[in-house]
This record gives sequence, structure tokens and C-alpha cells, in this order.
Amino acid sequence: MRAWAAKRTEAGGRGAHSRELRLYSPLPPTPFLKERGSNPGTLMSDPLFRRLTLLGIGLIGSSVARIARERGDLAAEVVVNARTQKTLDRVVQLGFADRVELDPARAVAGADCVMLAAPVGAFAELAAHIAPHLAPGAILTDVGSTKQSVIRDVGPLVPAGVHFVPAHPVAGTEYSGPDAGFTTLFQGRWTLLTPPPGTDEAAVEKVAELWRRCGSMIEQMEPAHHDRVLAIVSHLPHLIAFTICGTADDLADESRQEVLNFAASGFRDFTRIAASDPVMWRDIFLNNREALLEMLARFMEDAQAMSRAVRWGDAAYIEDMVERGRKIRRSLIELKQA
Ligand code: NAP
Repeated sequence: MRAWAAKRTEAGGRGAHSRELRLYSPLPPTPFLKERGSNPGTLMSDPLFRRLTLLGIGLIGSSVARIARERGDLAAEVVVNARTQKTLDRVVQLGFADRVELDPARAVAGADCVMLAAPVGAFAELAAHIAPHLAPGAILTDVGSTKQSVIRDVGPLVPAGVHFVPAHPVAGTEYSGPDAGFTTLFQGRWTLLTPPPGTDEAAVEKVAELWRRCGSMIEQMEPAHHDRVLAIVSHLPHLIAFTICGTADDLADESRQEVLNFAASGFRDFTRIAASDPVMWRDIFLNNREALLEMLARFMEDAQAMSRAVRWGDAAYIEDMVERGRKIRRSLIELKQA
């Protein structure tokens, strides 16, 4: 990995930020275990929260809600808010919420945990709307794919006495909306927490525990570091996928038909990534501008070098680059992240 690659240390080292990543625990602990009444063989924990409010109920929010419903120990009550009544009607049909509310202020009233799960570009307005209605002592968290922008947009609006714990579950698919979620989405995936310095440690631990119960492994990270890492592992690949699909679409009609016919030779994998939600990705690109542009510049330099190697028949360079790609793929498979 490159110079800024994260180093992991052993469990527990939370507190002051550093460039090092800290590992909580890859295995979900099982505190407060007791037997579930209707199914004596099943162990369950006490609910972490009395009322969890999800603002946004797409792929990520609805996966959390489904897990809450299935496990019973994330929250005693799950309240769901979305931008449109149509989505809330669908949520009622799907049956994973205890209550739906179109007004975000009403949705957060009395909640001890509020999770922002809309596109990151909507966070500032949502946070301004709900701030006066957040209960003292409540935890405000999020699932946004960019972290510096979320801290910039939401941080100043958080009332005193409310604990703000930014988070990002690094898991997803190209599908969106309340039908897209599923209970195993976060299994074996990382959730990155980026609490600002001085954040209440008990609140950080509760958010970590929520994600552990969703099946996630947890790490803490500085927000700027998070945004650089995600720029290379997620945002740049999406940018390349959207761009290559645009390039193919610009081809003359006869070539375009062949692109569709023979897509299985590589193009197909780009189209899967490119099928993602336009608003979500617009917001991610605009809210991780600097890191994304930096990674794009590095990529373009490397693409230029590859182009030179192809032009001048530098077989060794080409072979070396392909071999490095294979190695990365093998490592991902070994880490069960492929
Ligand atoms: P999604 O499936 O597109 O759903 C978005 C949800 O947000 C919908 O319920 C939508 O309500 C609501 N919403 C949209 N605009 C809103 C606004 N202006 N105000 C209030 N609510 C609004 O989204 P998602 O894929 O779950 O992503 C949600 C968040 O998770 C994003 O911040 C994203 O960066 C982050 N994330 C996504 C992934 C991924 O792979 N998808 C992975 C990790 C993190 P309506 O349906 O009523 O419009």
C-alpha cells in the first residue's frame, strides 16, 4: 500500500486522533445476554436504544431497519422519515418500521439515537431542521460516504448536550430505495467512525456497538484520512465507471450495439458500478472534491505512463501493472472483502 495506507493497532485505543487506525474488535461482543422468550435457544441482548430514528430509508437505512426488526436488540422502537410520502407508504408495506413520519422534526422527537441516512448533500438542511428537536443526551450519527463535509455541515448545528458521532458503513450495492436493503449487507464489512476530538467516549462506543450488532467490524479514523482512503477505493472507481459508460455511449451507433453485445469481456463490471444512484454520487463527488481530484490526478499520471508503455511496446511495464492488479485482487479474496 501507499504511504498514507492505514496501520492498525490492537483494540481499545480510542481518544485523541492520530493517522493510525484503531481497531475496536472484529468480533461482535455479546453483552447483557439473555434468552429470547419465544425462542429459548436464541440469545439476545437488551436494546441499545429506546428509539432509533432513521432520516432516509434507502439501501443503508432500510438495511439497518431490517436488522433492528430481525434482531430486536438495536432499538425498542424504530421511527422512519423520508423525503416523500410515497417512500413512507412503501416502508409501511414492507413492515420494518414501528412508525413513519414525514416531518423530520416530529420523527426525531424523543429519540435517543438519530441516524442521518439521506444523500450527504441533504445533511445540512436536515440537521438545521431537526437540531432544535433533538433530545438532550441523544446521539446524532450518520452513514454518509464523505466525512469532512458532514462534520463541516452538521457539526456546528449540533446542540450542546447532543453527542455527534459521524460514521460510514463501507458496504453497498448499486441498488437504492427501501426495497434494496437486506440484513446481511454489513456482515464482515468495516464501519469507519470519525468522531471529532472530545466526543463523548460512551456515545462513540454505543455507535460502535450498534454497527457490531449489524455484523460490522469497527475502526476509528481521522475524517481527512477517511476521505482520502475512500477517494481511492470507492469514489475514483465510480468516477471511472460513470466516465467509461459515457465514453461507450458516445460511440457511433454500430459500435454501441457491439459494446452491448460483447459487454461480458470487461465492460459489464463497470456498468454494475455505474448503475448507482445519480443524486447520491453527485453529492459524494461534490463533497469529497479535493481528495477525489488528487486521486484522479494521480490516476491520470499512471494512465499516461501505461499509455506510453503501450505506445513504445514496453512489455515489462504492462506485465508488471497487470501482475500488481492480480495481487491486489488475491489480497481482497484472502481478506474476504472481494
Ligand atoms: P438511497 O437508497 O438513494 O435512499 C436515500 C434516502 O434518502 C431515501 O429514503 C430518500 O427519500 C431520502 N432522501 C433523499 N433526499 C433527501 C432529502 N433532501 N431530505 C431528506 N431525505 C432525503 O440512499 P443510500 O444508498 O441508502 O445512501 C444513503 C446514505 O448512505 C448516503 O449518504 C450515502 O453516501 C451513504 N452510503 C451509501 C452507500 C451505498 O453503497 N449506497 C454505502 C455507504 C454509505 P425518498 O425516497 O422519499 O426520496
